[in-house]
Amino acid sequence: MRCDVVAVGTELLLGQIVDTNSSWLGEQLSLAGIDSHLQVKVGDNQARIVRALRSALEDADAVIVCGGLGPTHDDITRESIAEVMGAPLELRDDIAQRIESMFTARGRRMPANNLRQAEVPRGAEPIDQRRGTAPGLICPVGDKVVYAVPGVPYEMTEMYERAILPDLLRRAGSAATIRSRVLRTWGESESGLNERLQGVIERLEHEGNPTLAFLASGWEGIKVRLTAKAGTADGAASLLDRWEREVRDQVGDVVFGTDAETMESVVLGMLKDRGLTLGIAESVTGGLVAGRLTNVPGASAVLRGCVVSYASEVKFDVLGVERGPVVTEQAARQMAAGARRVLGADVGLALTGVAGPESQDGVEPGTLCVGIAMPDGTETSSTVRLPGTRDVMRQLSVISALDALRRRIEAGT
Ligand code: ATP
Repeated sequence: MRCDVVAVGTELLLGQIVDTNSSWLGEQLSLAGIDSHLQVKVGDNQARIVRALRSALEDADAVIVCGGLGPTHDDITRESIAEVMGAPLELRDDIAQRIESMFTARGRRMPANNLRQAEVPRGAEPIDQRRGTAPGLICPVGDKVVYAVPGVPYEMTEMYERAILPDLLRRAGSAATIRSRVLRTWGESESGLNERLQGVIERLEHEGNPTLAFLASGWEGIKVRLTAKAGTADGAASLLDRWEREVRDQVGDVVFGTDAETMESVVLGMLKDRGLTLGIAESVTGGLVAGRLTNVPGASAVLRGCVVSYASEVKFDVLGVERGPVVTEQAARQMAAGARRVLGADVGLALTGVAGPESQDGVEPGTLCVGIAMPDGTETSSTVRLPGTRDVMRQLSVISALDALRRRIEAGT
């Protein structure tokens, strides 16, 4: 089975947006064992879209077209597919009513243009819209098929998973279910992980299922993704369970979460489970840690607040840090204790460091001191050396400090 991808949109050609849809689709197709040998971008021009589709259909069994399903005059994917199918567009009342009710629900009147989104080439089957107004389309062309999905990534991915992948697998005659699990790690390099997992990787290569891949994700850490194929979802899940245990046996110390979990959601969850609140003092990161934590829904149950103690005087006067050098482990511990006291929190977390580009009071750029004050009054600190430019160092500081807190909580409160 081969499925190629055509991304529609003049803005893609002008470099105004990056075609992340094709790369996402390419990854998903390969995970499902479906070949994708050609991915092209084409502007909002019917003749060129038609040519791109016809040419892709010469070699591929299926083509996914993304974008150009909107309501405006330059959204012409529907017309182009109808031309390739040699079929007229027909207005579907059920879809029109659905779109209209979406507008009514938001207290707005539906512009007449949106009716274009209710048009379906004769012989095609619409894919229900769940996240936007544009339905997708499954369009048979002889014994081949063209799928149309909206360009908005959030709408596209949902439709792909719900309707397109199952249809592709059915056409491929494969009853297989594909499931992935991502183990999120922090604190070990990609080559270090590779080395520690060598035995697991060799056994997986021998067995062929699941597969294991590393995805370096910058200051989000390194992801270890297991992808299993089985006859049923339960079968795939039990394969993943088994190999997740094998991976954790080797590198469990650096695994902080799975799938959609982030370092911040994990740390907040751990504190919440223990009924603990958190107060933060940030110098080098200027509030980035608090910003990341407040992105997580429900953070208010844990996070009391944050003192952005950027100036040394604020560290001394507000947090009670002893006068003297401020990028030291002692200052970090005192900041954490100060945050705990001032903010009335159970746990205090503090970050002080030098983001660069210049050294500060003889301390090298990239130096981060993390202080943690626990409910029993114990204070600990650590120093890390981080690479990168000012921006990268500050972002790495966020996850490093949260990881230090995670480990401290795990060690016992
Ligand atoms: P809708 O009907 O839901 O508005 P559409 O099918 O008309 O979507 P477009 O108008 O082509 O889609 O694109 C809408 C937005 O989706 C773009 O402004 C862009 O932000 C995003 N988008 C479109 N194509 C891509 C792509 N290939 N990769 C990443 N993002 C894309």
